[in-house]
Amino acid sequence: MADKKEIFEKYRKLTDKTDRLTESLEKVHRQHMQCRLGCSFCCMDYSLFPVEFYAIADQLKAEEIRINPEAKSDECIFLVNNACTIYAFRPMICRTHGLPLLYTNEDGEWELSACELNFTEFEEEFHSENAFPQDKFNSRLFMLNKEFIALDDFNRYGEFDLIPLRELGAGNIQL
Ligand code: SF4
Repeated sequence: MADKKEIFEKYRKLTDKTDRLTESLEKVHRQHMQCRLGCSFCCMDYSLFPVEFYAIADQLKAEEIRINPEAKSDECIFLVNNACTIYAFRPMICRTHGLPLLYTNEDGEWELSACELNFTEFEEEFHSENAFPQDKFNSRLFMLNKEFIALDDFNRYGEFDLIPLRELGAGNIQL
């Protein structure tokens, strides 16, 4: 059974893989992409699986974190002057936004979501080759989380427990 350090390393590899795929998809959709520093349209106080929450906390422990103490309850506290203060360590969900995301809805049907600032009209045909396969990456994260919450120190969490991103700003997170 993998220990905490090995699981955090697997999480880091998963974010690297996400970045590689999003970078190649951004090239495919270059003519549509408006994502840039200063746009925070998709930022909000997301909730994270414990594995992601603690893996990011582990990465942030050597960093000086700046937060917006005035962020409202649905706003991300790491958004300061319209820029992400934890950009290199941001969660998976933040790494994929802006791109066309392909996923299955509650009825088991394929659905596509895409930023309305980038894709004003869905004139393009989206398919598995030019959209981000969100289910695939979410499943990997879910499985990694299962492995993580089986560890003695984290078995107080259930499979579907989520932790608000803003709690990362509290500091002194017990790892
Ligand atoms: S972590 Fe960064 S990218 Fe993600 S919602 Fe917060 S400010 Fe936006």
